[in-house]
Formats: sequence, C-alpha cells, structure tokens
Amino acid sequence: MISSKLPNVGTTIFTRMSALAHETGALNLSQGFPDFAAPQALCDAVGRHIAAGHNQYSPMAGLPALREQVAAKIARSYGVSVNVDTEVTITPGATEAIFCAIQAVINAGDEVIVFDPAYDSYEPSVELAGGRCVHVQLSANDFAIDWQKLEDALSPRTRMIILNTPHNPSGALISRAELDQLAQLIADRDIYLISDEVYEHLVYDGVPHVSVLAHEALYQRAFVVSSFGKTYHVTGWKTGYVVAPPALTAELRKVHQYVNFCGVTPLQWALADFMAAHPEHVEELPAFYQAKRDLFCDLLVPSRFTFSRVPGTYFQLVDYSAIRPDLNDVDMSLWLTREHGVATIPISVFYQQPVAEQRLVRLCFAKREETLRQAAEKLCGI
Ligand code: PMP
Ligand code: GLN
Repeated sequence: MISSKLPNVGTTIFTRMSALAHETGALNLSQGFPDFAAPQALCDAVGRHIAAGHNQYSPMAGLPALREQVAAKIARSYGVSVNVDTEVTITPGATEAIFCAIQAVINAGDEVIVFDPAYDSYEPSVELAGGRCVHVQLSANDFAIDWQKLEDALSPRTRMIILNTPHNPSGALISRAELDQLAQLIADRDIYLISDEVYEHLVYDGVPHVSVLAHEALYQRAFVVSSFGKTYHVTGWKTGYVVAPPALTAELRKVHQYVNFCGVTPLQWALADFMAAHPEHVEELPAFYQAKRDLFCDLLVPSRFTFSRVPGTYFQLVDYSAIRPDLNDVDMSLWLTREHGVATIPISVFYQQPVAEQRLVRLCFAKREETLRQAAEKLCGI
C-alpha cells in the first residue's frame, strides 16, 4: 500500500471537464485556454530558433534576453524597475513558480492563508512542503477580501498569504487600498506573499491592474508570479516567471534548479523576440478580451442565466438559479455538457467548504467569435 502524500487529491476538474467535452463533442468553455491561434510571428520565431540551433539548456534563471523583456514590460506597465539578474526568474509555467516559492519558504507546521475560491494548485503545493492551508472565504457577492475573517485567520504560525488578482474564477480585482490595508495588517509579522498575477493584462472597463510589484512594502516580502501562457495565447507552452527581491529569488532558485533547472530554450528565445518587436501586444490585450467579454455577455442577456460582467480574467461567472436551482454546480456542469453541449467549470471545487446556496458556473470566453456565438445560442435555448 502506498502511503499517499496527497490522499485527498484526485484528477483536477480542468482535466475532467475538458475530457468530458471531448468525449461528448460539447463546446469547451471549461478549462481556460484560447481556441484561436497564437500570434503568427511568435510561432514563426520558435521554428527559427530551433533551426538556428537554440536547442540546449538555457541558463537556470532564464534566458537573459527574456528576463530583460520581462523587466522592460514591468517598467512600462507598473513604472518600477527590477533587476534582471537578481529578481527575475523564468519558470516552466506559473504553476512551477508557485510550487517553488512555496517549497522555498514553507516549513513543516507553517500555515498558509488562501482565499476561497482558490486556484487548485496552491493547497497540494503547501501540503508537500509540510504546511497547512487555512482557508478564508472571499465575500460571496463580490469576491472581495473579508478583513475580519482574514484577521481572525492569522496566527503565530502564519508564514504566507497567497493573493490572486485578477482572480480565477471570479474575475475580481484587488485595489490599491486593499493592498495598503494588507500591508498594515501584516507589517509586524514574519509573513511572505505569493501574488498570483497570471491574468495581469486581462483587465477591463479602464480599471488598471494593481500589481504587488508596484507596492514597495508588500514587494519586499513577495513572490510575484505571471504566465506567458495567458498573455501571449500559448497556455500549452507552460512558460512563466516569478519576480521577487534578491534574497527571496536566491531561495526560490535553489528549489527551481532541482525541480526543473530551466525553461524550454527555443520558447524563451521566441518570446523574447516577440516581446521586443511587439510591445503593443500587451497594451492591446484589455480591448481584445473586453470585446470578447462584451460580445458573449450581450449574447447571453436574453438567456435565463444572470451575471455581472467580470472586471478581469477570461472567465465569466453565471448564476443558474432561475434554470436548475435543484442541481449543485458539479451536477449542473455535467448536465450542461451532456444535455446542452457546453462544458463549464463548477466553482464549488475551488472551495474547502462550498457555499451551499451558491449556483454559479464559470465560462471561459477566450474563444473565437464563432465559438462564443454557438455557445450563447445553446445557453439561450435552455
Ligand atoms: N494561477 C492561476 C490563477 C491560473 O488560472 C493558472 C492557469 N492555469 C495558473 C496559475 C498556472 O499558469 P501556467 O499555465 O503558466 O502554469
Ligand atoms: N488555469 C486554468 C483554468 O483555470 C487551468 C489550468 C489547468 O488545467 N491546470 O481553467
């Protein structure tokens, strides 16, 4: 008998729902990934670099040219300068960055605060480090931090808090005032942060993303994580990065060099080329995705689903209380996939203790107009 280190972990909901969509032929609005092509120039650059022989290990911290592009993007987006040698590390995906940051600073018995609904990779990573997640629920209506609950959850064992803004699955954003409040709350405590900002460039209605990178007090204790997958429409490239002050970066790299050592070399070259040639890509993303959000939401207005347009990410939550209040969200997702041909993600799986009365599923709108129209037509027919 294997004594499992993760006895409560099964196959992720993203894998299960994508498999069911494939099996049933449903439109897949479940797992978050675009169904449209990545920029041609980016794809061409991969082939060019493979042909040019860029096929061996890259430096452990990441290709210098790509780290420079990351620093340049950060300077343009947030007006702060980070040191490419001591603060920026390229990782095979944001998931690996999060895992390494947790392994680097969490010891046996430490507590890590996560806000529910929480992305699924946080808790197993904490448990493998010997730590324990303390779940603090975001407000049920607007998914904002409940400060009383957060304060109540702090203990002398709290070693880390994991933030996620823009937030998966709700799309909620953390404001500058909230970051200030957090900084005040933990000022005298020995607590690290992970700020999972993989959707940093997917923000709408003119509201900017507030990065922990631009919050001096919080940055001193933070690992700020992002993903090229989301920003450049290449989730399958599994390439991300983490920015942290030098002392934290040094500890993170001790783990990263043995988890993976380095990212995939030709992909890093291609991203560096593309970022240098197309800095406007990032600036155009909010309008690009806002148009998709608005098209999809406009098409869903006549449906019996209710929703408020998300401020960030490429996910739209919809309430199905008026349709099948008798079904919990897992059964609703299965029913929608099997009976109506649209695969969704139930949000209860992001909670330690799901909110009993919540009737919400998540729809990914990182899709071609045609896919969004077909999905909306099916959803309006229910
Ligand atoms: N954090 C969040 C909130 C995500 O939604 C994702 C997307 N999969 C990740 C981290 C992981 O990103 P990556 O695919 O680069 O590992
Ligand atoms: N982040 C993606 C989502 O929320 C899933 C990534 C994965 O499948 N692990 O849909």
